[in-house]
Formats: sequence, structure tokens, C-alpha cells
Amino acid sequence: MSRISCNTIRDILPLYVDEVVSAETREIVEEHLDHCEACRKWCADMKSRVVIPVESDTKPLKAFKHAWKRKRFLISVISVVLTLTVVLIGYLVYENVGVVHDFFSPATLVTMRNTDSAGQWQRLEIGETGCLNFDSVFQAKRMVLDGNCDGPAAFRIRDQQGNIVLDAFTLQPGTGVQLEKLEKNTSYIVEIKTSATYICVTFS
Ligand SMILES: [Zn+2]
Repeated sequence: MSRISCNTIRDILPLYVDEVVSAETREIVEEHLDHCEACRKWCADMKSRVVIPVESDTKPLKAFKHAWKRKRFLISVISVVLTLTVVLIGYLVYENVGVVHDFFSPATLVTMRNTDSAGQWQRLEIGETGCLNFDSVFQAKRMVLDGNCDGPAAFRIRDQQGNIVLDAFTLQPGTGVQLEKLEKNTSYIVEIKTSATYICVTFS
């Protein structure tokens, strides 16, 4: 029986240590161990590693679960970071790339100095056409009197035929109004009456 090589014995040893070998195989192994110091040591080593208290049997599973949790946590963190990065980049592009900003938040700014229109309606020249036209789907039909204006202003809005669409309403500096009554893609004439010397109106 001693003809069986150490390598063969060591292949069987795990099964032998687990006591799942046949009586015949066990005899062969034991006979070899009796006269082979090296394999005896190998076997003792293996036994010391294999003998695990019952309650720690779940260790590998726990370790796996723990690793999996860590992995999931990492994935969540990375997802959140990536999302925030994308949002931040989007925001920075929106804020800093004028064309993008103008596309998504089209706004027309109208400023007047030394208005000197107290008591008189005068036309507010808006943009290139001089008329107000909400021609973008992204426009909210909103009108705001800038907070830096030095006084309130009254406004009224007419259609192209001169009919009053929105009768006089007054805006205090820093306040705005929703122009729901106005149609999209339609030109209107905006008139202003104020005693303020600086007027800044935004249509968006
Ligand atoms: Zn041996």
C-alpha cells in the first residue's frame, strides 16, 4: 500500500478528514500516514483548519452578505454621486451657456431711463419688433418689474388692432404678474405709465 504516492494521499485527505471515505480508503490513508511524516503533518494541518465551531459555520455566508451589502452601498453611493454630477453639469451648462439658457428660459428685458411719462401712457418698446410675443413653449407668460426700479409702474396691454386686452394694472418694484390672458405667438403692445426714472421689465 505504501506504493500510493503522497500526492494521491493528499488528494484524498480532505475527504478523509471529513470522514466521508470508505473504510477501505481510510485504511489506505492511515497506513500511509503511519509511515509518512510529511503527510501526517499535512493531515494535522488540514484537521486544524477544518475543525470549525458550529456557530461560525455561517461565517462565509455572513462574509458574503457583508461584502454584498458593501458592494450595494458602494453602487448606491456611486449612483448618487453620478446623478448629482450630471445635475450639476446640467445646471452649470444651463447657467453659463447663454444659448441653452435663452432656449429654456427665454426672457426679454426692457429697460427705460428718465421715463418722464407721469400721467401719460407710452409704448414700451420690446425686443426687435417693439411688441410682446410669447413665442416659445418654455415661456411662462410672466412679467416682472425689477426690484431696482425706483417706483411702481402701471401697465396695460393692447392687441394689434388697438383693443385693450389687459386693462391698467400696477406693479411694485420686485413684483410680477402672470399674463395668462395673452395668447402664445401673438403680438401685443405694452404701454406703461410711471413716474419712476428707471424701469426694467422682464418678460419670460
Ligand atoms: Zn506521504
